[in-house]
Order: sequence, then structure tokens, then C-alpha cells
Amino acid sequence: MMNDDIVKLGKANYMNNYAQFPIAIKSGKGVVVTDEDGKGYLDFVAGIAVNALGYGDEDEKKAILDVLSSGILHTSNLYYNAHAVHAAEMLNKAAGSDAVFFCNSGAEANEAALKMARKYGSQKGKTEIISFLHSFHGRTYGAVTVTGQEKYHKGFAPMLPDVVYGDYNNLESVKALISDRTAAIIVEPLQGEGGIIPADEDFIVGLRALCDEYDALLIFDEVQCGMGRTGKPFCFMHYGIKPDIMTLAKALGGGLPMGAAVAFGKAKDIFSPGDHAATFGGNVASAALAEVVLSKLDKLSENADKKGKYLGKKLDELVKKYPELCVEARGMGLMRGIELKTAPRDVIAKCMEKGLLVCSAGYTVLRFVPPLVVTEDDIDKAVSIIDEALSELC
Ligand SMILES: *Cc1c(COP(=O)(O)O)cnc(C)c1O
Repeated sequence: MMNDDIVKLGKANYMNNYAQFPIAIKSGKGVVVTDEDGKGYLDFVAGIAVNALGYGDEDEKKAILDVLSSGILHTSNLYYNAHAVHAAEMLNKAAGSDAVFFCNSGAEANEAALKMARKYGSQKGKTEIISFLHSFHGRTYGAVTVTGQEKYHKGFAPMLPDVVYGDYNNLESVKALISDRTAAIIVEPLQGEGGIIPADEDFIVGLRALCDEYDALLIFDEVQCGMGRTGKPFCFMHYGIKPDIMTLAKALGGGLPMGAAVAFGKAKDIFSPGDHAATFGGNVASAALAEVVLSKLDKLSENADKKGKYLGKKLDELVKKYPELCVEARGMGLMRGIELKTAPRDVIAKCMEKGLLVCSAGYTVLRFVPPLVVTEDDIDKAVSIIDEALSELC
């Protein structure tokens, strides 16, 4: 089947909840994916910050083949499996955390964190959760409630009660909201879907201090910015503090669905048997790929740091070259964006035509989240395509 046939079949059989581009991806190698018509694309989307290892990683291939030959893909959490246990140990070592709950997605990881916050607070009369405007935490009811963007709530009211929103990077707005009734603050240390907005150091350090002062849990949603993407294994490591709970997903499972709520210190004992569960959590195949990603986390972070700085410099140059279209370039490591003066859809379409996949974030930001194995040469190619696209749109 060609791209067009598959697109037609999708439209005939899917619900109408996505605005999908009309290409069907068939295979991949390195940082390049190929569609059903045989056209290759340099991939600066990476399945939305998921495919950190790029495509065709030999260690991933070996790990998944080993799992298949064992005959066991799934065990349930009535029993242990070595891959999930080992992945949890590696995660705790890498993050300096104390306990892990595995699930299947970012939203689900945040649901676990929110339930931990409510349970932690329930003994102390604390029910309120503070989140931030422009945040994104997922689409399930708890996660979408703490997502501080009107457009994701529209038509789905009522939301979860006792959630309030502060202004990102504005500590005063948090001081005005926090009280003895606050159970937790949930924040992305680098906002992703909201438009690639990095946090100020004072803001993050200030949130930690406020949570300590009011006995509230600090939850970092690192679903997108974790797992090496910002140039350190986890984004919180840029700030010299630790959260009480960190949520992960996206890159964690090496392309298979996997999420995690990771607890530090006192948060590790909040759940008791029966409090929370996920049938597929710690699935053997996902966990086996997580082991591979975690075993490469230091290398991936290092490359994200180096290549991220290079990409950042190139994006700054583009912004200077096209002031009539661009506002600024932002981000950390290999999670970057250019804020445009218009919606990015035309730039994205032009780039796609020329063989580069990029995506948007928020209403006006062009987002770059390539595999963490990207090279300078890949970045040069991508930037020259974006350059051409912008010049044609001027
Ligand atoms: C993608 C994302 C989520 C949601 O993850 P899903 O796996 O789609 O549920 C949550 N938080 C952040 C910061 C994300 O980027």
C-alpha cells in the first residue's frame, strides 16, 4: 500500500481526534525514517521525543529478540520479572531516587503522582494541587485537569476539584496560592507542549523551598524533558535540588509504551498494597527496552548536551536571519524551539516537502526533539532545510 491508501484507510476507520500529516512511516535507520512511498525524512520529531536511540539500534534489537525467544511478553504484577526489577534499579541509581512505579504512558504516570499527592495530603487535610499555566500533563481526567491550558478542558467539564494554576516562572503567583491545604505542586522543569519554555533557576529552587515550608510534595513532570534530553540524565539535575516525585514516559521504553512515577525520600512509602496498579506496568518487553535506554543514559545525555548547544547556536542564527518570521529560539539540550510570529504549520509542511520532520508546540512554536544520537552533520542538514523553508515563506 502507498501512503495515500493508508491515509484513506485511517480516515475511514479512526476516530476524528488527530490532525495527522498524510504520510505513513514504514521503516527507519539512524535519524532517518522512510515512508510507504519510499521517501526518506530526517527526523527531528522522534515520535515526539520518544525515539532517543534513533532507529535500528542493535542493542534494542537484541533485547527485544531475547524477550521474544523467552516466550514471555507479560507477567502481570502478581509476579516479578527480572527486566522490570533491573530497570527500576537502574532508574533509581541514575536519578538518586528510592522507589519506582511502572505504568504505560505519561498521563498514567501523572495520575499516579496525583493520587500519591492526594493520599499524602489526606491525613493532613490537604487536597489542593498547584499547577501552571501553559503546562501539559496528559489527557486523562487528572492529568488534563492539571494541564493549565483552556483548550484542553473545553467541552470536558467538570474537571478534578481543588486544582489551581500559577504563572510559570513567577514565584510570587505561587506564594499567593500556596497554603496549609496544598498537597502538591506539579511542574514541568522545562515546559514542552506549552511552547518549549525553560524554567528560571530561582523559580525551581523557590518551588522546592515553598514545598518544604508548607509540607507539600514537589512533582516534576519529566515525561518529555527527562531521560537525557536536556543534556543531563534528568532535567532536575540542572537545578541542584530534587523533587519528591518525578514522572517519566516518552523515551523511557525505547519506543515501547512505558511510564514511571519515581519517588524520592518520604514519597516512597505513600502507597500501600492495593492503593494503585497497572496491569501492563513493568511489561517485560517495555522493561527490556528501558534497560537498554537506561544503560546508555549517560552517553545520550552527553550527546544531547553537546549537540544541543550546537543546535541552539544554529537556531539563534536563523532567528537573526529571519526577524520578520521569528521571535526567539529557546530550550535546553535537544529540546528546542523557535517561536514564530505565525502558526508553524506552513514551515512544517515546507520542511516535510524537503525531507525534514519537525513539529509544533503551543500555537506558534516550531519544535525540535531529534533522537539523542543526532550528529552535527544531521543538524547542519536540518538547519539548511529550515533555512530554505523560512526564506521561501518570507
Ligand atoms: C507527552 C507528555 C505527557 C503525556 O504523555 P502521554 O504518554 O501522551 O500520556 C505528559 N507530560 C508531558 C510533559 C508530556 O510532554
